[in-house]
Amino acid sequence: MRKTDLNSPRSTVRPLALNVVAGGAGFIGSHLCRALLDRGESVLCLDNLQTSRPSNLRALEGQPGFRFIRHDIGQPMPAEVLRMAPRISRVWNLACAASPPLYQRDPEHTMLTNVVGTNNLLHFAEAAKARFLLTSTSEVYGDPEIHPQAEDYRGHVSCTGPRACYDEGKRAAEALTFDYGRAGRVQVRVARIFNTYGPNMDPDDGRVVSNLICQALRGNELTIYGDGSQTRSFCYVSDMVAGLITLMDAEVDGMEPVNLGNPHEMTVNELLRHVLELTGTSAPVAYRPLPVDDPRRRRPDISRAGALLGWAPRVPLTEGLEATCAWFAEELVVEPAAEVAG
Ligand code: UDP
Repeated sequence: MRKTDLNSPRSTVRPLALNVVAGGAGFIGSHLCRALLDRGESVLCLDNLQTSRPSNLRALEGQPGFRFIRHDIGQPMPAEVLRMAPRISRVWNLACAASPPLYQRDPEHTMLTNVVGTNNLLHFAEAAKARFLLTSTSEVYGDPEIHPQAEDYRGHVSCTGPRACYDEGKRAAEALTFDYGRAGRVQVRVARIFNTYGPNMDPDDGRVVSNLICQALRGNELTIYGDGSQTRSFCYVSDMVAGLITLMDAEVDGMEPVNLGNPHEMTVNELLRHVLELTGTSAPVAYRPLPVDDPRRRRPDISRAGALLGWAPRVPLTEGLEATCAWFAEELVVEPAAEVAG
């Protein structure tokens, strides 16, 4: 990817830029919406609320410059959104169930969200002459044979297993995005997001960070899949959002994906030790079977993000886990009341 002049006037954010954030009520999406609003930009959030938490949305609604339309990106764009096209400068695609149990619940929908949904958003971005950013995933590397994973590694993905709907869906979404870019139809950016955690995660979406913290806080047994020797690298959500915004803003040609994640790799057992220490729980640990196609190792090579964007994650794991734990502790207390109210 070519680096162009990051200080050129084109890299200056237009005041009152109008962003479409698909998946803006989700975990990372809600933080992105908040960050864009904090920059004085406007946000049109599209979300089908399939896996998003209503409280993420409630915290955004009523903010100046924020508007929500319930919409599934796999469906044709609503007329009222099409009418706004001339005012839209950026389209962000964060719309897809992302935790393995949830994206496997309706695999057809997951695949079509990535393929048809991404195509619908690209088509819209083309009409709007807006820049488009796809949030892709480390899952495009599958169960990697190369470690750490750099962007030129083509991956080791099962196209027949239960993760294929997501992994192959995202790979197809990348292909589509680069095709629009190559044809000069849309200015594109592709971020490959590695495991991310922080406030606004769904306590029940089945991911390891949310599971372990919530299990510890609820006094339930802590579940480790396999023997816990598999590794992941966890990035705090504020670092991730900073990376996404920097990538969208950057005046690069955009025709190559960029890994975003924290290269601090650890085993799932090490993560467990952190959570046990932080929460002081005496709940037992239960070892369960490893899910099919669960990657053995994962760590991003973030040299490209560093060279192109000057981006690197800043929040250390202990700090991020502490903030996440504190947030979940409050969330789990208010959860039953929120459900009654809803
Ligand atoms: N995992 C675990 N206990 C849980 C949930 C997940 O040991 O309660 C494991 C899972 O099998 C995987 C790792 O933790 O090896 C990360 O899982 P997660 O679903 O958070 O994300 P993935 O990287 O697999 O998409």
